[in-house]
This record gives sequence, structure tokens and C-alpha cells, in this order.
Amino acid sequence: MKENIFGKDINECETLMADIGEAKYRGRQLYQWLYEKRCADFKEMTNFSSQLREKLMNNFELTHGRIEEVQKDQYDGTKKYLIELYDGQYIEAVLMHYDHGASLCVSTQVGCNMGCKFCASTRGGKIRDLSAAEILDQIYLAEKEEKLRISNIVIMGIGEPLENYHEVIKFIRIANTGFGIGQRKISLSTCGIIPGIEALADENLQINLAISLHSAFADRRRMLMPIAKQYDLEPLMAACKAYFDKTGRRITYEYALIESYNDRDEDIAGLVKLLKGSQNHLNLIGLNEVQETDYKESSRLGYFQAELEKQGINVTLRRKMGREIDAACGQLRKKRYEDKVSV
Ligand code: SF4
Repeated sequence: MKENIFGKDINECETLMADIGEAKYRGRQLYQWLYEKRCADFKEMTNFSSQLREKLMNNFELTHGRIEEVQKDQYDGTKKYLIELYDGQYIEAVLMHYDHGASLCVSTQVGCNMGCKFCASTRGGKIRDLSAAEILDQIYLAEKEEKLRISNIVIMGIGEPLENYHEVIKFIRIANTGFGIGQRKISLSTCGIIPGIEALADENLQINLAISLHSAFADRRRMLMPIAKQYDLEPLMAACKAYFDKTGRRITYEYALIESYNDRDEDIAGLVKLLKGSQNHLNLIGLNEVQETDYKESSRLGYFQAELEKQGINVTLRRKMGREIDAACGQLRKKRYEDKVSV
């Protein structure tokens, strides 16, 4: 089986051209064809001679995944894509429309090992990591389907991105220098993998880092997010501070409000104590409810926001998108597997 050329970074493009006896600049041209021009066929690479195109075709293939199903929310236009990968696995990507442009939430793993209690993606654990090509392909496929350009990326779909570190960093660099998406328009959300946060601080990237916080209390957070037993709240906050000191990039904390779990008045006090005075930003979200858990969306979002702001915390209420579709990450994929089993 020939290797897929989609997903090669600039150095790999230059090296593969050198390996087939071509000049280095041909590698840069190839990179432009693959990403800037979203070229889907070697035959369209018109500044390459027919012999060079032939050589590329003999050595590589240029393939993409397939959108298997699209769900659309009639209310806000959010679309969820179920994408089939080369090995029959499924992932999801979600397109959201904002005033500042089209934003795509991408997956980084097939399944997830993190075990967050409110999440459908972790049921069944992680099957495998996605390659940079498979993460990039979510952008390619959504753009092709919708005939638009994606301007923002949130790395917040299925999987824990910092557990698939090298492929995710490669993805970010190609999305930025190849697809032309500004680094500041790329957000990466982690459940708090401390070594990954430390490594990310050294990458010299201007991306936005978001931490899934969900409780200001270590014991409650550990119950909700088992990974916190390994990376507890106190060392996590220290790693976040070090990240800010090194990069100057403000961190966003994600907080999904869950009825009677993290929406109490003492949770407000806990958040103020944890975040006040630091270069932080709290993103309040309505919980996307998942079957098989007892966690319910809280009705105190507005109150929570007002109280926190009164006490000096920077808060945004994230608009909940895709209410009509299986909005929480992993739900559509999970259903597809259940359908397959019951056939
Ligand atoms: S919320 Fe994210 S990190 Fe947690 S289990 Fe789900 S996909 Fe994994």
C-alpha cells in the first residue's frame, strides 16, 4: 500500500522530493498544492512536469476520508459530521458559525482514555490516536462539503490532544502555515495533562490554551475527571501559571455547570479564590447531557456569571451550539457503533 502524501509537513515534502531526485523548492511547491490550494489530485499540480507527477503517483497516494453522515441543527446551523477513517473507525467534527467566521471543532483520537464522567467519547476507551493527516482531513472535508473556508479551529472534539502530542503539534503547524489559519485562531483544550502543558509552553506557539476545570475543589474534580488523580488541581494550576509566565498567553478555564454538583454558592467562592488576580478567563458552558449519567444541566448559568463578574472574574458564557443534534462529543459516533453491533 502506498503512503498517503496528505499530512506531510514542509520538511517531509522537501525530503521526499530530494529522495526522488528533485530540487528542494519542489517540496515547498508540493506543500502549497496540498494545503494552500487544497489540491486533491496529482494531475492538478500543473507546475510539475508530467514525469514528476508520474513519479509522485508511483510512490504515493493522495487520499482523504469520507463524511458518512451530517446532522444539522435547524436552530443555529451547527453541523456535526460523522467521518469514516481508512480502517472503518469513526470520528466526529463539528462546524459552528460565529460572527467571526466558521469554526471547526476537531477530534484527535478515536475514543478517549480520560474517563470524564460527563462524556460519551470515553465509553469504550481509546482505540487509537489520529495522525496529523486525519486531523487536518476534518478541515479539508468540512470545507469541501460546505464550500467555505474554516477560519477558527477548536481542538476539543473526541480525544485528549496532549495524549497525542506530536501529531497534534504537527497538525497545528500545518493548519497554520499550510491552510493559513492564524495561530491565535486555534484553541487547544486539555483535561489537564501537566507534562503536555509544560512541553507546549516550549513550542513557541501563539495558540489559545483551555483547561477543563469543572470544579474549583480538588476532590470534586477528581470524582468528575479521573485523570485529576494523576494530575491534581494544585500542580495543574502551578503548571498553568508557569505556562502563562513563559508564553504570555492568557489561559481559559472551561466550566460546564452541572446541577447540584458544581453550581452551588460555595463553588462560586471556590472559583474566586482559585482564579482571582491571575491572568485567567472562565468560560461557562451549559452541560451537554449524555444518556447513562445522572448529570443534569444547571439552570443557574446567568446567576453564576453575574456573581463571578461581581467578584472580579473574567467570564464569558459560551453559547451552547447544536441543541437539536447529538451535541455532546462522541454521541453520534457511539450511536453508529451501537447500530453496527445490532445489525
Ligand atoms: S471530555 Fe475530552 S478528555 Fe474527557 S473523556 Fe471526553 S474526550 Fe476525553
